[in-house]
Amino acid sequence: MYLFFIPGKGRWVKGCFTKHNLYVMSCTIVLCFSLSYFWNMSNGTWQNTPVKMYNTMRMTYKNPELLKPPRNDVLMVTPWLAPIIWDGTYNLEILNEQFRQRNVTTGLAVFAIKKYVVFLKKFLETAEMYFMVGHKVNYYIFTDRPQDVPEVALREGRKVVVLQIQNYSRWQEICLRRMEVMNHFSQQLFINEVSYLVSADIDMRFNDEVGVEILSDLFGTIHPGFYAAERRSFTYERRPASQAYVPHDEGDFYYAGAFFGGTVKEIYKLTKKCHEGIMMDKKNGIEAVWQEESHLNKYFIYHKPTKVLSPEYVWDDNLGRPNILRKRRFLAVPKNHAAIRNK
Ligand code: UDP
Repeated sequence: MYLFFIPGKGRWVKGCFTKHNLYVMSCTIVLCFSLSYFWNMSNGTWQNTPVKMYNTMRMTYKNPELLKPPRNDVLMVTPWLAPIIWDGTYNLEILNEQFRQRNVTTGLAVFAIKKYVVFLKKFLETAEMYFMVGHKVNYYIFTDRPQDVPEVALREGRKVVVLQIQNYSRWQEICLRRMEVMNHFSQQLFINEVSYLVSADIDMRFNDEVGVEILSDLFGTIHPGFYAAERRSFTYERRPASQAYVPHDEGDFYYAGAFFGGTVKEIYKLTKKCHEGIMMDKKNGIEAVWQEESHLNKYFIYHKPTKVLSPEYVWDDNLGRPNILRKRRFLAVPKNHAAIRNK
């Protein structure tokens, strides 16, 4: 016979369990807890690591809902609290002052390999009109044809740096290798010259202001073809054999490879990881469906951008001009793929 404490009654009473009964009951309870713990672990429901928390976020994330254009100029944020930059969501006057006080220089890296040098003139001329106006800019032009880089009049505090690199026979290889080249030059050059690095496609033109509102540790741009799309239709790499593989229940946005950036340190890390994935794929005889853009999208799932740029920052007029766009700041230049690629 054993004594038990009855809560509420405040006194000890006589129980009616034998020592053997208690032993069996304790063993059963311990066994139940152990079984339930291992069952939960195998289902992942007790994992509280940050990665798991992001997974939960991704599962419940209503992406198209979030991407309705801002009403009444409210600040919009991602589930991990990064601002989504649309026209009207920031005060450029204050930001300009802050960045000027810090004497920030921004690097704009572009690749113009083989026939893509034809895009340089329009790109640079429009960048001088709209990109980081009033701030210092270094244009880093990677090309195999330095003699074809046009002379463009530059504002004060801005310069062009031409960097000769090799070309590749396949256009896909040219796109992929951009990660390797930017990684190399982040360490060798950018880190000594600029605070932020922006990577842009060259077959584009600036059409409206792109200023310091974009600058942050790490930023990506929502691809104009997918800003209203459901996650299941994002064109992530879906083959598990690739390092860029993204399962169907993961991913926040589909980002454009045509415009991203961050501090040199963050771009160094991003390009290193993407290049390593690209090289591993090469070893395994696979190439991601959208080349370096697939690897970039994978990276952004596990390294969340600290700012997300709306499709105002990469637009293609072939997609029309929806009302949500107050500005079309950086536009695709129409190109004849057959005439320009591999030439
Ligand atoms: N690129 C280049 N030469 C090439 C192919 C690509 O310089 O032969 C560079 C260029 O900066 C271009 C970028 O890689 O903007 C992306 O390639 P492309 O525009 O052909 O890809 P898309 O964006 O059309 O998928």
